[in-house]
Amino acid sequence: MTLAHRLHRSAPHSRRAPHSRRAPHLRGAPHSRRAFLQLSALAAAGLVDRALAAGRSLRGFPQPPTVDASRLNALLADFRRFGGTDDGGTTRLAYSDEDLAGRDYATGVMRRAGLEVSTDLAGNLIGRRPGTDPAAQPIITGSHMDTVPSGGSYDGQVGSAAALEVALTLHDHDIALRHPLEVIIFQNEEGGKTGSRALVGRVFPFELDIVTASGHPIRDGIARLGGDPARLAEAQRDPGSMAGFLELHIEQGAFLEAGGLQIGVVEGIVGIRRWNVTVRGAQNHAGTTPMPQRRDALVAAADFVRAANEVATTMPGRQVATVGRIEAIPGAPNVVPGEVRATLEIRDLEMSKIDRVFAAIEAGARTIEADREVTITLEQFYESLAAPTDPRFRDIVEAAAADLGYSHTRMPSGAGHDAQSMAELGPVGMIFVPSRGGISHSPDEYTAPDDIARGASVLLRSLLALDRG
Ligand SMILES: [Zn+2]
Repeated sequence: MTLAHRLHRSAPHSRRAPHSRRAPHLRGAPHSRRAFLQLSALAAAGLVDRALAAGRSLRGFPQPPTVDASRLNALLADFRRFGGTDDGGTTRLAYSDEDLAGRDYATGVMRRAGLEVSTDLAGNLIGRRPGTDPAAQPIITGSHMDTVPSGGSYDGQVGSAAALEVALTLHDHDIALRHPLEVIIFQNEEGGKTGSRALVGRVFPFELDIVTASGHPIRDGIARLGGDPARLAEAQRDPGSMAGFLELHIEQGAFLEAGGLQIGVVEGIVGIRRWNVTVRGAQNHAGTTPMPQRRDALVAAADFVRAANEVATTMPGRQVATVGRIEAIPGAPNVVPGEVRATLEIRDLEMSKIDRVFAAIEAGARTIEADREVTITLEQFYESLAAPTDPRFRDIVEAAAADLGYSHTRMPSGAGHDAQSMAELGPVGMIFVPSRGGISHSPDEYTAPDDIARGASVLLRSLLALDRG
């Protein structure tokens, strides 16, 4: 070894030397023990947090409580005393006597659960359980109890009953939450989410004059529920005024059932865009106009219907496109239609995906124009923005389902829900339970009692995890 070599080798050593010499002291037993204890305490705390968030039992830590499945299903059966029909369905129209009676019943359950009950200025029924942290914003759960005419006994009602059952369970076990918990029964969901939209200031004054299915204009309906239509604007809450909103709801589709799955972790409520479609060709005599000379607007519209369906079917993803209304003009048996008015609706979780689906359909329309010698105009007339659920809420719901041993999947909601409005106030999540045959808004709507109990158990565990988060 040369000197240079030795110097080179020793240089780093000599630079490290002071550290090396002090190292034994730094790494001495008291230090390392302290560090180890700190680390293990942190790790243990993390473990405990994760275990509790997931609802798992850790040695020395109690299992989280479970909902009372029979009481929950009895609650749901009791709801049918207010508007239940002989065919198993329910007609409990918003603002009807049945609606008022059902809410009175829910008020009684809220009181039994020790909640402070109030009705806000919009007519939403609210049960509040105080939290231990005065600075914490409320965690909100709930759904709606109103139905469509000849509706089912599960839509909205499962989430309402489950929210009440969760409150009863917390009361039974005397569980203190850090956040206040609010159980909200939103009013008039089926007639346009009036209650939840009022909380985000999106009910337009003209809406108050709309006569609902119960025969009561919304204005009178709000007053009947104990709200004040003249002060509706004051019902609005501030963005950021809640820690989160979690809603349990029936799927209203057959995706879970088809997959043999028990819990749907909702990724969001799909956005919707609708267009008026006008196809213009040439109106002419149906007897004297030879086939090659026709510019038949309805035949072109038929091509358009097929094109929209093909685009939505062949593109990867879960987007849906529908031509739901079509009218031939003049609409006579002996006239080649000169004009067709139709609608196009596209839904997806991402508005940008809706744009891409629309662009492909529009390109199809340009081809049809050339083929059929017609013009096709597409004018957007409606938009409902997608409301994605909060990623953390998805994880929490998923972990709760997994820990309870329930099969689960992530999925979008194709139907609108109060959670969509609530998303403007803070993070939201949704839990779906299966709908038999995917049937909803019908007396045949059905969700099995075990599925309802599973959904409520996931709701409770998720709420407890959110409270700790
Ligand atoms: Zn609903």
